[in-house]
Amino acid sequence: MLTLPEFPVRQRDFLLEISRAITAQLDLTEVLRRVLEASVIMLAGRVGVIALNDPETATFRVRAYTGIKREQVDALNERLNAFISTVSMGTDRRLLDQQLKEMAASLSEELVQAVAMPLVFAENPLGLLIVFRSYEASVTSNDLQIMQSFADQAAIAVNNAQMFEQIKQEQQRLSAILEHNADGVIILDANLDILQVNRAFEQMTGWTADDAVGQPQEQVIIWHQIDGRDLHDAVADGWPNIKDPRKTQKEENQSQAYSDTFYVEGELARKDGLTLSVGITYAPLFGQDGKLHNIIGNLRDITNFRRAQEMQNVFISTVSHELRTPVALIKGYASTLTRPDAKWNEDIVRNSLGVIEEEADRLTVLIDDLLTASKIQAEHGVRLRLADDVRLDILAASAVERQRMQTDKHTFVVSFPSDFPAIPGDATLLRQVIDNLLTNAMKYSPRGGTITVGGRFNEDSVTFFVRDEGIGIPESELPNIFSRFYRVDNKLTTTTKGTGLGLYLVKSIVDAHGGTINVKSQPDYGSTFYFTIPRD
Ligand code: ADP
Repeated sequence: MLTLPEFPVRQRDFLLEISRAITAQLDLTEVLRRVLEASVIMLAGRVGVIALNDPETATFRVRAYTGIKREQVDALNERLNAFISTVSMGTDRRLLDQQLKEMAASLSEELVQAVAMPLVFAENPLGLLIVFRSYEASVTSNDLQIMQSFADQAAIAVNNAQMFEQIKQEQQRLSAILEHNADGVIILDANLDILQVNRAFEQMTGWTADDAVGQPQEQVIIWHQIDGRDLHDAVADGWPNIKDPRKTQKEENQSQAYSDTFYVEGELARKDGLTLSVGITYAPLFGQDGKLHNIIGNLRDITNFRRAQEMQNVFISTVSHELRTPVALIKGYASTLTRPDAKWNEDIVRNSLGVIEEEADRLTVLIDDLLTASKIQAEHGVRLRLADDVRLDILAASAVERQRMQTDKHTFVVSFPSDFPAIPGDATLLRQVIDNLLTNAMKYSPRGGTITVGGRFNEDSVTFFVRDEGIGIPESELPNIFSRFYRVDNKLTTTTKGTGLGLYLVKSIVDAHGGTINVKSQPDYGSTFYFTIPRD
């Protein structure tokens, strides 16, 4: 507790001392506490309050008090705001004095006098300091001067503390953004040592912040494979261009070099030895002096993007191959038939026309699949033309009849209960589903075997299945096979025709019917694809 020193010389020292103590403080609550304590001592008061202006609500609120109880603060807030509005109306002094007296009396019967001092900074009313006394004494102009300069010091300190608080809040906001960013963030100093990383960075790289911070970045960002230069090489080549402090901001913005970020992508080696496809954008941060202070790296997981790109490439080569084969056959047979110098017998002509027709059919199916797939993509789903009496058992029987002609290695079994019900659905699309499953069953059982097509039903739904005794699908591939353009990488898929669209279409169509599709498979023993569709 401070004590009142002897007046006047030592009091000035005292004032200086507390001014220093106050202005050195940045914690607002502590500043207010000290200002209040010193003021109460200066005026030999019993009670002191500091109210600060809250610009958001445009009201004054008590932020520090001494000599009164917590319960008295709400009522005091009201009286204070009434007092402030009287002040702002420029009403005469007597009314103000009256109001202050009433305020004093409302706090305690013993309080008979109040001295109020505004806290003003750069003409901004920051708050109000009031000291209440239990005796009435005149305040000399010298006292007032000292008090005012003291209040000014306090206002500066309050202003500093408020600014500091704002900066602190801003900093907290930035750290929250940094920490919860879905992209990985790494902050480097000018020597490329790691200063900070966020949570997403930890998850993406397997490095904890504790292990990574303080390390040179190339100890942590290790590329398994990289497209182009890494950060180290870029810096060695002169990136980033040093900011010229003589340039204006506008010139800087126009200068390509300054705004340049550096992008690198590749396969990052995680700490646990796994790899991850990432793209990192590095941005330089310069100080006022034009010197490079930090480099901020933003890591994005581009696994899906790369996979999509790869699939697109595979798709383009498969589709062009798939299109070229039938076109080449059609062209070959047609030009042979139309050769002016040859006369073909009827058998050859019929056979050749048969091949042309078959290949044209294959083209039609392929083009239909492509169109349906791009339509699904564009419309985010399949649009159904519903009929309410689609018989999957009948569609299956006729699909089997069609396929039977194409193979002599496979035996077909069709197995439906005799009362298998009709369902609401799009017959054309469901036929496409059955055809696709059946074609796959044949394609992926090159040694032949039995293909069983059948169904079951209950009150709510019907289930349809196609079972083969073919090569099967490894478990790790099961989550992928319904993706667009996805083909399992094995010997058979490199030699059989396909675009990786079939099961994607099948799943999209089943989904559109409110159904689900699944597969059970055992490599070398065969697969069963089954889907369930609701009956209403
Ligand atoms: P594709 O045009 O390659 O046949 P699909 O989308 O129909 O494309 O099938 C995707 C992949 O799933 C195929 O490449 C194949 O590897 C695998 N697959 C589909 N059906 C079967 C099956 N009955 N048996 C084994 N593998 C299958």
